[in-house]
Amino acid sequence: MEIFKYMQKYDYEQVVLCHDAASGLRAIIAIHDTTLGPALGGCRMWTYASEDEAIEDALRLARGMTYKNAAAGLNLGGAKTVVIGDPKKDKSEALFRALGRYIESLGGRYITAEDVGTNVQDMEYIRMETKYVAGLGEGSGDPSPFTALGVFQGIRAACKEVFGTDDVAGKKVAIQGIGNVGFNLAKYLKEAGAELIVTDIFEENVKRAVNELGAKAVKPDEIIGVECDVFAPCALGAIINDDTINKLKCKIVAGSANNQLKEERHGDMLQQKGILYVPDYIINAGGVINVAAELEPGGYVKEKATRKVEALYNAVLEVIEIAKKENIPTYKAADRLAENRINLLAKVRNNYIK
Ligand code: NAD
Repeated sequence: MEIFKYMQKYDYEQVVLCHDAASGLRAIIAIHDTTLGPALGGCRMWTYASEDEAIEDALRLARGMTYKNAAAGLNLGGAKTVVIGDPKKDKSEALFRALGRYIESLGGRYITAEDVGTNVQDMEYIRMETKYVAGLGEGSGDPSPFTALGVFQGIRAACKEVFGTDDVAGKKVAIQGIGNVGFNLAKYLKEAGAELIVTDIFEENVKRAVNELGAKAVKPDEIIGVECDVFAPCALGAIINDDTINKLKCKIVAGSANNQLKEERHGDMLQQKGILYVPDYIINAGGVINVAAELEPGGYVKEKATRKVEALYNAVLEVIEIAKKENIPTYKAADRLAENRINLLAKVRNNYIK
């Protein structure tokens, strides 16, 4: 992989290769952009097939965090760490402490948090070497209920655009994946009077939604074709693809899953079909907004974090406005929103103040 070529193409600031022989640490910290503030992004641990694959993943995810944090109105840039290794076999106190020391050496340019393959215990080891770590046990807690709240607000905003009202009472919402985010989302929707259709590959999760929330269950392969107002993907990525797109019978796609569009062109196809797509990284930012609240000067205040997550309602409306005004699909409008904020604030903040 030609790293500098890639860094130039998307304007990356820094890539740090971290090695520690004693603990076996091999990690990559990719910092994409710190225009808005220190770069926040989780630490992923994965059995990458090659070093190139790991570096590419770190770079791609770091850039994604720049856009997510910027569009969410956070004063944070974007970065990501990937640790090469098997999270089931290769973890140790020494490994995460070694990583913590590398993070400390960046002097606050980068703040880490949990991600796929890492947990609170790993973050606690990192915390022994650096304060630049968020999402610890005593802080903002489980992000899923906040992600769900943001998705609920995003669905309301999308309904306002499509149906002229943000009241979801009587609206049919099909949720794919009734896990941590999906179940919390279902609770909000139920409380607001929506009709729920759910699926999951894990039978227990389906039963809980049926018994506790009166949801209707369908088989995993049936959820795509369910006639509904809103399809909420809360399980896997790449769910909007050539195979699924013509089966959708909804007016809105709005859910928590990351990377819902298999390719960007699928976002164009949704627009052509008259389906409003609420970009994933806008609507699922509740978790990162909540974790970022730990970094506020006064420390974490739940009510304040909740208000910020609820403001995703406005972010979704803003994306829709940009899409309409510029006649572009919503996934492009989301990027525009993030880029506009970064570019504007870069200009506002370039004057000298002693
Ligand atoms: P989770 O693992 O708790 O829930 C996912 C659920 O989807 C599980 O119950 C799983 O059995 C089910 N599932 C998997 N494959 C399925 C399939 N083919 N059909 C139906 N169900 C299937 O995960 P989560 O934390 O609820 O996250 C859900 C999605 O939202 C993920 O894509 C995640 O990356 C994204 N996300 C989560 C957060 C958060 O705060 N947890 C934040 C941002 C994005």
